[in-house]
Amino acid sequence: MIRLPQAAPQLRIKRFRAEIDTAIRQVIDGSHYILGPALERFEAQFAAYLGVRHCIGVASGTDALALALRALGIGAGDEVITTALTAAGTAQAILHCGARPCFVDVDAVTRCIDPAAVEAAITPRTRAIVPVHLFGHAADMARLAAIARTHHLALVEDCAQAHGAYSDGRKVGGFGHAGAFSFYPTKNLGGIGDGGAIVSNDVAFADRVRALRCYGWNDDHRVSAAVGFNSRLDEMQAAILGALLPHLDAGNAERRMLASHYREALADLGVGLPPDPDGCVYQQFAITCDGRDGLRSHLARAGIGTAVHYTPPLHVQPAFATISIPALPRTEELARRLISLPIQPEMAGGEFARAAAAVKEGILQWKMS
Ligand SMILES: *Cc1c(COP(=O)(O)O)cnc(C)c1O
Repeated sequence: MIRLPQAAPQLRIKRFRAEIDTAIRQVIDGSHYILGPALERFEAQFAAYLGVRHCIGVASGTDALALALRALGIGAGDEVITTALTAAGTAQAILHCGARPCFVDVDAVTRCIDPAAVEAAITPRTRAIVPVHLFGHAADMARLAAIARTHHLALVEDCAQAHGAYSDGRKVGGFGHAGAFSFYPTKNLGGIGDGGAIVSNDVAFADRVRALRCYGWNDDHRVSAAVGFNSRLDEMQAAILGALLPHLDAGNAERRMLASHYREALADLGVGLPPDPDGCVYQQFAITCDGRDGLRSHLARAGIGTAVHYTPPLHVQPAFATISIPALPRTEELARRLISLPIQPEMAGGEFARAAAAVKEGILQWKMS
């Protein structure tokens, strides 16, 4: 029986183990364990990769969003428009700076935030839009940027699932005032622990984020000028990420290849397939189907791991629910029907066709049962 884990980040670490070992050894043999040369190198390397001016490494993707919003001056009484079909961290970050997440519906096809719904939700209190490039698919940044410009709103991209994804030939992270990345192990670029980064082209904003991540210090004098945090990407993770970054594009190409095998194998099975724009990096390959939970159990018995992203959607979760929970019919339907298939670039020894065939067989068997 074929055994397909939904995600297996350890396989990626194993594949590049020699380079990672060298990078880790350099950190251990050095003398600078926090805000040292490995972080500086990685920040420059990731900024160059994305084509942005500044990159600031922080402790997680959630912190990256929270610090970006704070550095933009967003706080109590402000509203931030976002999607409910996302990881908890997206909205936790909004709560952390004292603002209120204002959830709007997604587009049924792209599963990303619907620009028309964003525009309809703007109030005098709205300060920012946080789109999520869900599953590696870039949100509609041209329209969102136009809306942000017209209404004088900040645009902060949640790029936690979209390292290297692009739209109109431009990598995500550089469209808005800031882009926030997570390096959680299962992301397209993931470490052996937690990590995150904020990217931007605005030098004053970048300086504020640098102060926020380190006790509110201004660089030279170690004097706390404002409220600050301890949220730094440590040298060990920075060194590991620096070793993995040169392999990111190849890993994304493997994800795309696997996606095309899935697309072919699952074409006539009556399941919904994700759209396939240029530049999608498939952090997940998520299909939709009726009777989702039954299919998941069946696939699990066949040795195929799956996951659900995301249920329940954020707008009904206690931390985020407000007195009047908005009706988000497309989000709710997707939350009931989405199922994320195995997507590890290294899985099954790269035998993607075999993996796709196994999933097809599993779905066919389930339909007949
Ligand atoms: C992973 C993720 C986050 C949170 O990142 P952490 O590093 O776990 O804090 C935020 N948003 C999205 C869309 C994510 O996938």
